[in-house]
Amino acid sequence: MIYTMEGHALKHAVEEMLFHLLPTVTLTHADAIGAGETDDWCRSILTEADGQAQARAVVRLDGTVRESESRAAVESLAPLDYKRTITELVKTTVYDAVVPALPEPPVWGSLTGVRPAKLARGLIERGMSRGEAAVHLREHFHVSPARTALTIRAAATAMELDKEIGPDDISLYVGIPFCPSRCYYCSFVSSTTAQSGHLIEPYLDTLCGEIEQTAALVREAGKRVQSVYIGGGTPTTLDENQLARLLSALEKNFDFSHLREYTVEAGRPDTITPQKLAALRAAGVGRVSINPQSMEDAVLAAIGRRHSAGDVLRAYDEARQAGFDAINMDVIAGLTGDTADSFARTIDTLIGLAPENITVHTLAIKRGADLTDKAAAAAQHDTVFRMLDGAAHALQNAGYGPYYLYRQKFTAGGFENVGWCKPDTECFYNVTMMEELQTILSLGAGGVSKRVERATGWIERANNPKYPLEYIRAADRLANGKRKLLFPKQ
Ligand code: SF4
Repeated sequence: MIYTMEGHALKHAVEEMLFHLLPTVTLTHADAIGAGETDDWCRSILTEADGQAQARAVVRLDGTVRESESRAAVESLAPLDYKRTITELVKTTVYDAVVPALPEPPVWGSLTGVRPAKLARGLIERGMSRGEAAVHLREHFHVSPARTALTIRAAATAMELDKEIGPDDISLYVGIPFCPSRCYYCSFVSSTTAQSGHLIEPYLDTLCGEIEQTAALVREAGKRVQSVYIGGGTPTTLDENQLARLLSALEKNFDFSHLREYTVEAGRPDTITPQKLAALRAAGVGRVSINPQSMEDAVLAAIGRRHSAGDVLRAYDEARQAGFDAINMDVIAGLTGDTADSFARTIDTLIGLAPENITVHTLAIKRGADLTDKAAAAAQHDTVFRMLDGAAHALQNAGYGPYYLYRQKFTAGGFENVGWCKPDTECFYNVTMMEELQTILSLGAGGVSKRVERATGWIERANNPKYPLEYIRAADRLANGKRKLLFPKQ
């Protein structure tokens, strides 16, 4: 599809909405649409007069041209509000012009953001009741009733946890970007041990140095660590001695006396051993994530996981025996070879195990994916819808409730990822990170630290180098970004 922007430069807004609605199309920007153009096209036009901005979208799809128009007063708006208003006008008009051509509207309506619950929280904090916020999501953004209910539940959980965050409370993320092998769908920066195993020791050396420097900054700034999340990659790719070294560096340098939650992603069952689990418990880790993604051996083989469903059962049992009473399990809807029935079997098996948390992800289509992949993912739309719907019913019937959710930019069918939990077992870190409730300092390659000003919601970021080798080479500069975040006035 060819698209133009006339009277504005909100390229991202136009592209994001078109991709949201038409995930299989390839978008090409043009300066103008030629008369007699036979390809599908979209013109997004913005004009402004007498303090009013007017957006118009004219879209040709499958030979039919449709138009939509919307306007808003912009005269007295502050720059940020002005930008937000015209962006919304542009997106809404594209949405309204395209949706009549679709077999059915998307479940998230015109919402494209990754944090729907944060938007709902904003509405509630600005004075709406939860009911009014739900009506706004449904009527203004056309969000489906089921997604509206999910969003309001997640917003309510975040608002409850927010009350438990003091002005000096922060959380830590530690990244271990190594895995035993690469899953076919993986979009994370993670290297296999075959490729980069030789980097693990120097990486740990650098990480221990960063831990020491960050802990000194945290002390100097008078901050208190409220939760720690070690993710990846797969942290349990480290052997038990390496794990013990990392955990002891954290414990030795940070004051964990106010810690309310300590999580380690033990993602791949093929990396989990009783010795590693014992090392985690000995260091005070209380929560682990064991991620089957599917409990169907054929699906696991198709996505390049080098473990079976039986390995997941063994790892889960070992984690319980090691004393973990907070276990999360991740699954993904939309994997190669999975069906609505086999996905339902996976969910039923996990419910039978009774972990405290089950996180249901939707497969992300990478932006660079070829057309065949995109078309295949779009064709999966109904299947993924049934998978998610079935999982939601089964989980609710088994006593789980949704506690956080987020959307990735490019997920099959524009769906979402939802964390489900048994009562009072929500993962604090997941909520605080996703809802941007507090400052999070991220250590390790690819770490993105965020300073959150709680009073205003203002966020500043500091990025670590993305890849392990770059990270190791930047060892002496890693504290600089975090110092700027913790001491913005220096
Ligand atoms: S275990 Fe996770 S991080 Fe590692 S390759 Fe698979 S999806 Fe990527």
